[in-house]
Amino acid sequence: MHHHLPPITAQEAALCRRLKSVAAQCGFVSIGVAEAEPIAAWRSEQFAQWLERGQAAGMDYLHRQAPLRQDLTAVLPEVQTVFSFALPYVAEQPFRDGDFRISRYALGRDYHEVVREKIRLFVSRLGLAESQQGRACCDTAPVDERYWAWRCGVGQWLDNAQIAVEGYGTFVFLGEWLCPLTMQQLSMHLDTIFPDEMDENAADATTKGNAPTISSCLSCGRCRRACPGGALTAQGMDARKCLSYLTIEHRGDLPASVSQQMGQRIYGCDTCAEVCPVNHPILLGEDVPPVAVCEDFLPSSELLSMRPDDWVNLTVDQYRRLFKGSAVKRAKYEGLMRNIRAACGGDDVEGVAEPEVLM
Ligand code: SF4
Ligand code: SF4
Repeated sequence: MHHHLPPITAQEAALCRRLKSVAAQCGFVSIGVAEAEPIAAWRSEQFAQWLERGQAAGMDYLHRQAPLRQDLTAVLPEVQTVFSFALPYVAEQPFRDGDFRISRYALGRDYHEVVREKIRLFVSRLGLAESQQGRACCDTAPVDERYWAWRCGVGQWLDNAQIAVEGYGTFVFLGEWLCPLTMQQLSMHLDTIFPDEMDENAADATTKGNAPTISSCLSCGRCRRACPGGALTAQGMDARKCLSYLTIEHRGDLPASVSQQMGQRIYGCDTCAEVCPVNHPILLGEDVPPVAVCEDFLPSSELLSMRPDDWVNLTVDQYRRLFKGSAVKRAKYEGLMRNIRAACGGDDVEGVAEPEVLM
């Protein structure tokens, strides 16, 4: 999955520089822009083949929405320009050894909401008319988010199928603003909104404190070897074998083979991110200053105090309180309890049959 095309043009880069400080004020650590053209042929081909091999497992919506993902006009007919944003979340492992673990991205408030709120805040600061405010997306529309993050120069595509942002690794949420103005129209508008010295401040606001780190894949194969389900192959990630898919999206039973792979993971799996050398400076806090994570994404003390016994005895009420406004709601109470039972034992574990329609 290496594509060494120049990700953004000089015009795109110039527009970005103007907007970086606004994005930084909203908490984003990277922003990029591109023309909203249909996605590149190599990517649509790659994605079609990935679907055809069945690697999307039970995510039928990905099959249904595949044609829509090729062109952003399916999401916003008047779109001209797309902005991609990255917002960091907790990188260090917050749970103690021996405790059950929830994937880092799901520790706090639901990222779909938080990221879109921040994109809307960003847009509101540009002083645009209501008809020019376009649409904010974060895993909420058929948008090929990793493709656009790469295309806009926000991050690099890694072999573990994730996007890494320089200085922040893969511990970031991606979101997009679909903008109905062309880059030229937007530049002209910004000329009237922001004073000239903006450009220099902009460079400062986002680069300050972030030492450059490696952000491109070393193709070292560590993610592939460490993956508990053997889900990472030369043909990309296979959701059918991925614990993140199986513990979050999969409805139904979890076979004994999966529960043996789970270890302490009861919701998601961060192993391919944890072993990746691109993430090591961030995980070890070496060469990079601590990342200011939006407090919405921090785990509650109640969540961190949960011992395996507490999880086994989790009641519906407790579940609701622990995960109010959280992305964990996606697995539902029954789904989470299925995972907890699976992490505790090796037998086939009965789950919930009800399929969920997403997005
Ligand atoms: S572990 Fe190695 S091969 Fe895998 S994504 Fe990271 S750098 Fe690339
Ligand atoms: S999330 Fe876990 S199971 Fe899924 S590909 Fe990464 S290491 Fe493998």
